[in-house]
Amino acid sequence: MPELVKAKIRDIPDFPKPGIIFKDITTAIKDPETFRRITNHMTEKFKDAGIDYVAAIESRGFIFGAPLAYNLGAGLIIIRKPGKLPAKVEQVSYELEYGTDTVEMHSDAIEPGKKVLLIDDLLATGGTATAACTLIQKVGGIPVAIAFVVELSFLDGRSKLPQDIEIVSMVKY
Ligand code: AMP
Repeated sequence: MPELVKAKIRDIPDFPKPGIIFKDITTAIKDPETFRRITNHMTEKFKDAGIDYVAAIESRGFIFGAPLAYNLGAGLIIIRKPGKLPAKVEQVSYELEYGTDTVEMHSDAIEPGKKVLLIDDLLATGGTATAACTLIQKVGGIPVAIAFVVELSFLDGRSKLPQDIEIVSMVKY
C-alpha cells in the first residue's frame, strides 16, 4: 500500500536550506499502522534473498533497518558519519554539490562473502548509497540489494547506483 504510506509523509519546504523540499518521515513512523506497512513491505521483498546483514545508513536508515533485520533474521550493521564508531574503521568519501561527505563502517563488520542489504530512508542524488556500497565491498561484503522507503525519481539517483544491484523503493515522487 505505497499510497497509504505516501499520505503519511509530510513535505517541509525550504529545509534544511531554501529550494529543498524535505520529505519528513516522522509523521509516517509515529503512526503504528504505517510503520508496520513499511517494515512488512520490505520484509516481503527480501525474505527469500538469503540476506546475512542489513546495513543501515545514519541516521534515518537505522529506523527502518533495525526492524527489517529483525524480521529477516539478519544481523544489523551501522554505517555512520565520521568519528562516531569506536573501533577501527574503513571510510569512503563522496562529492556533494558543495564539498564532500564521508561514511564509515567498522573494518571487521562483515565477514568476506556475506550478502548485504543496504537500507536508507530516501534516495535523492544517489551519492550516499553509492558510497555505502563501495564501503561494503571494501570490507569484503557483497551488496546484493538497496532498499529505500522514498525515491525522488526526478533526481534520477537510481542511474548513479551500481547497476548490478537490485534497487527497491516503496514510495516514489
Ligand atoms: P543522496 O546522497 O543525494 O541520495 O541523499 C540521500 C540522503 O540525504 C538520505 O540519507 C536522505 O535522508 C537525505 N535527503 C536528501 N534529500 C532529502 C529530502 N529531500 N528529504 C529528506 N531527506 C533527504
